Amino acid sequence: MPAQTYLFPCLSDNFGVLIHDPASGATASIDAPEAAPVEAALRQAGWRLTDILVTHHHNDHTAGIGELKARHKCRVVAPRGEAQRIAHVDETVVEGDKVKVGALEGSVIETPGHTIGHISYFFPADKLAFVGDTLFSIGCGRVIEGTPEMMWNSLLKLRNLPDDTRFYCGHEYTAANIRFAKTIEPNNKALVAREAEVSKLIASGKPTIPATIAAEKAANPFLRADDAEVANAVGLVGSPAWKVFAEIRERKNRS
Ligand SMILES: [Zn+2]
Repeated sequence: MPAQTYLFPCLSDNFGVLIHDPASGATASIDAPEAAPVEAALRQAGWRLTDILVTHHHNDHTAGIGELKARHKCRVVAPRGEAQRIAHVDETVVEGDKVKVGALEGSVIETPGHTIGHISYFFPADKLAFVGDTLFSIGCGRVIEGTPEMMWNSLLKLRNLPDDTRFYCGHEYTAANIRFAKTIEPNNKALVAREAEVSKLIASGKPTIPATIAAEKAANPFLRADDAEVANAVGLVGSPAWKVFAEIRERKNRS
């Protein structure tokens, strides 16, 4: 049976998201920014929490774990590289490990850069990816613990997922990301189209995700650092893609 998802806002601009296996009734929360909205989402959906799949150690992705685990006795899965920095972890995972949520099976993709042990979860049967703070719609996470080259390679792994993969990220930053992206590629038609779509979604109070990998490839400058026009736009024709990426990231940090 196909997976079901439930997306909801947390904190000021975080997303919470649940993935549910209707066959077994298992439900995982991807990260746990805070307990109360996760509880409310579970009640609304009528689902029982069995697992928490953590992408990285930041507090706005982990603060709700203790309370949720105490109440639901759920399993907590986290990146091995950050397990020491995350409380209540039951299982640690690395690149290529499989994570079951009932009958659903996800695989772990290491996507370091934002943090050094950041991981993403990809459920191939449903083409769903949970990418934490690595990839945002029309943006990407800040490179806090890793290097730009590391982050670029992580983004390439996500870019290589099937085009029709729908991805869920950790924050609603899309509108601001689009404003910045237009400074790099003002004439990108896919970006202009995405801007119109996002304006409508926001005006009607809807989230701007999930988005597809195909749509991001066409419009997200951080996934386009190996495109000659993007390199040209930042004055780095002939430079390695990761340097173009680093320049775009630096400009976004200053914007
Ligand atoms: Zn983070």
